[in-house]
Amino acid sequence: NIDIKHIRLNPELYAQNCRDRNYQAAAAYPARINDLFAQWQAKQHEGRSLRERANLIRRLIANPSLSRDDADEVAAGFSTLTREQLLEEARKLKSSLSTIEDAESNLVSEMEALALQIPNLTDPGTPIGNEPRLLTLLNDHPEPDPSSSDKVWRSHVHIGAELGLFDFAAASTTTGWGWYYLLDEAAQLEQALISYALQSATRAGWRQVSPPSMVYSHMASACGFQPRDASGETQIYTIAQSASDTARNKPELCLAGTSEIPLAAMLADTVMDDPSTSLPRKRVAVSRCYRAEAGARGAETKGLYRVHEFTKVELFAWTNPDQDATEELFDEMVDLQTEILGSLNLHCRVLEMPTADLGASATRKVDIEAYFPSRRELGRNDGWGEVTSASICTDYQTRRLATRAKLPSGKLIYPWTVNGTALAVPRVLAAILENGWDEEDCSVVIPEVLRPWMDGRERIGPKG
Ligand code: AMP
Repeated sequence: NIDIKHIRLNPELYAQNCRDRNYQAAAAYPARINDLFAQWQAKQHEGRSLRERANLIRRLIANPSLSRDDADEVAAGFSTLTREQLLEEARKLKSSLSTIEDAESNLVSEMEALALQIPNLTDPGTPIGNEPRLLTLLNDHPEPDPSSSDKVWRSHVHIGAELGLFDFAAASTTTGWGWYYLLDEAAQLEQALISYALQSATRAGWRQVSPPSMVYSHMASACGFQPRDASGETQIYTIAQSASDTARNKPELCLAGTSEIPLAAMLADTVMDDPSTSLPRKRVAVSRCYRAEAGARGAETKGLYRVHEFTKVELFAWTNPDQDATEELFDEMVDLQTEILGSLNLHCRVLEMPTADLGASATRKVDIEAYFPSRRELGRNDGWGEVTSASICTDYQTRRLATRAKLPSGKLIYPWTVNGTALAVPRVLAAILENGWDEEDCSVVIPEVLRPWMDGRERIGPKG
């Protein structure tokens, strides 16, 4: 379902796009696809002439009285052959044809495999390179500067230890580094954040889905999540197959890194009704997300910022394959994200992400970063850290998943997909603790919108 013709006809566009997006190896694929296509055409030509010869022999065998002086028979060199010799020639042709057909199908598979690894084309508004473009600062918050105020800033790891909110030591014994137990109010805050984000999304018309946590690996790669990233690191946990699974050719399963995958795959191999009534189709899901985070090292791996398992409320939509309609829905998604984060009193900035950060599937991506005093201490980005992401994927996922919609005329089209975080728990929880910390009475202010799910309490204080 991938539009290989478009790649073949625009090789430099795709190659430059790969370079802009830091897919260096894939930049060579458009030219390689054109090479393979030329080989495929040559094989097709060869096959056609062999098939013509085979037809002729079949005619001669069926009708021995056929004039052997016909120009094409003479050209084919069959004019002097006996019936036995003709039969032998037919066998040889059949075997050569089958070799050619195998070569053709290998070439097609190779072209498809390369095309699958080429990232989506990029929206013209996306900054090229590594630097995002600032769109807005949320709630007009200026960038807070810890050095110019009396407020004492603490990391969420410190606050969690003061208030007894996490147990990293037990998690390191049971599961390893990068895992955690949330305790008491932290565990309640997790549920409060999920309920609040879900309520915000469902009130805005996003229908709720509870998806599976495991998906087939080929579904993940169809959505743009490859088993290995550009640096060769594994980012996805795959499930080891039993010998009997392998013997029965059962496809490999992996743990979904995001519910974007099971949501997109819900309509794999499906034809939707008339898009004017079935699109946009908006869904919201809560899931546990699993990330191998193989490349992550260093101080930032302390605490909740980068963990291997977390809960995320995710927004996902199929839209009409139309720029304006899709951008309207994308803007609605980003507005919902900013509303949620703004109401949690977080200092945020909204960024148009550059080509190097788009991954495989997005044509455009907007991230929201929140201010984390602890990250400022680490000397990273002046304390800003990503808390949500929203992407337009055009038809990248629907083509790979064979999700189509039927127009009244009967024509099939590929809808576009849009996905975004409504709320990813651990980072928002960390930001709430760090921004709501009150050193004087050793407590954290609970954002007002979460209090209905926290027994109406205003603060989390020391135990005892
Ligand atoms: P992504 O699905 O990669 O776009 O991530 C969506 C959001 O999930 C991010 O903005 C983060 O808030 C959160 N997130 C991603 N990876 C991790 C991780 N390893 N640990 C904690 N939160 C994460």
